Amino acid sequence: MGLSTGMALSDRHPQARILVLEKENQWAFHQTGNNSGVIHSGIYYKPGSLKAKFCGDGNRSMVEFCHKYGIEHDICGKIIVATELQELPRLESIYQRGQENGIPVYRISPEEVKEVEPHVKCVGGIRVLSTGIVNYRQVCLKYAELITKRGGDLRLNTKVLQIRQDGVNQILETNQGDFLARSIINCAGLHSDRIAKLNQVHPEAQIVPFRGEYYELKPEKRHLVKQLIYPVPNPNFPFLGVHFTRMIDGSVHAGPNAVLSLKREGYKKTDFDLRDFVEIFTYPGFWKLAAKHADEGIQEIIRSWSKAAFVRSLQRLIPEVQAEDLIPTHAGVRAQALMKNGALVDDFLIIRGNNSIHVCNAPSPAATSSLEIGKAIVAQISPQLAHNLA
Ligand SMILES: Cc1cc2nc3c(=O)[nH]c(=O)nc-3n(C[C@H](O)[C@H](O)[C@H](O)COP(=O)(O)OP(=O)(O)OC[C@H]3O[C@@H](n4cnc5c(N)ncnc54)[C@H](O)[C@@H]3O)c2cc1C
Repeated sequence: MGLSTGMALSDRHPQARILVLEKENQWAFHQTGNNSGVIHSGIYYKPGSLKAKFCGDGNRSMVEFCHKYGIEHDICGKIIVATELQELPRLESIYQRGQENGIPVYRISPEEVKEVEPHVKCVGGIRVLSTGIVNYRQVCLKYAELITKRGGDLRLNTKVLQIRQDGVNQILETNQGDFLARSIINCAGLHSDRIAKLNQVHPEAQIVPFRGEYYELKPEKRHLVKQLIYPVPNPNFPFLGVHFTRMIDGSVHAGPNAVLSLKREGYKKTDFDLRDFVEIFTYPGFWKLAAKHADEGIQEIIRSWSKAAFVRSLQRLIPEVQAEDLIPTHAGVRAQALMKNGALVDDFLIIRGNNSIHVCNAPSPAATSSLEIGKAIVAQISPQLAHNLA
């Protein structure tokens, strides 16, 4: 998000002096580099929402960007399948939503599903043609290269520790010294709410980390999956349910689940951070969420610790898949904003401060939508301020 915004800024205001700070020693180290690599179509999202708009447009602009810069990608399409009769009405609502959002989507029978994915067992499906796959690390590296070419200053290993106001300027205190800025755009993902608070902006929502763990199909079992196979998602959650994804390198990943992480950057089940833990468990929103969805939460914890439970979820899609076909692979941690009233923030959340903009909820499909979100953020910068950025 930070790089796409920097790129959009350099496009729209070539005179602006741009500095991008990243605390890690490489780009895309967190969410962007640990996701499923899907260029989403925008089928799921509420018509009129930022997600629906930015994802639909973002799908097209991401594909164009990849074409233009020779980034390997594949518009392979995906299927969403109902595995039980009771899921058919929800599948139908997704189909309707796809129609409303102008997505190329078709109802397909179980026999037609078999033509696309011979190993899937289901009672009905829909096919989305515009979904694709890409490696978002490569996309980020291209964003970074373009900003640098246009004169932007990119700094890795630079962690923002404090922000203070100094007249019209803001001073970013980092582990590499102070930087002066006229305007700040906060795209700190899992730490975006904390950075906002350092800048005297208090979002109504707090980031709660949900780890998504994946297994990978052994190479000799990759033939079980041709493209992307999704279940009908639980309508109460913004997560899509464990699914099969063919990655752009040819491997097939199964997942991700969505289990509460006790550390914001906690990629392992045992990862724990006292500050993060206390923040989650003293946040009233967390207890309200837990009260409403205790069952689902417990199921996720079981599925995280028990491979057999994970495999059972996958077998609902492809009954042939066995535990020995799957090896654990990477995990990603989602930065999901949660309101004090226990509601998960469904849409992207972008908050304006005083000469600052804070991206406080940018979960999936934000990678797909990154070019559009970047442009939309830059459009919020007034011409007066843009002039002062030179
Ligand atoms: C498991 C998983 C699967 C997903 N699958 C998809 C998918 O298939 N398609 C899709 O479109 N989206 C997907 N998403 C969502 C997508 O990856 C994210 O929405 C997107 O990457 C968010 O980008 P970001 O820049 O906001 O966050 P990040 O990529 O996390 O970047 C935030 C950056 O801020 C840096 N930072 C934080 N604090 C500081 C500080 N104090 N100083 C300096 N730097 C700091 C971090 O180091 C980090 O690099 C998935 C996400 C996950 C976790």
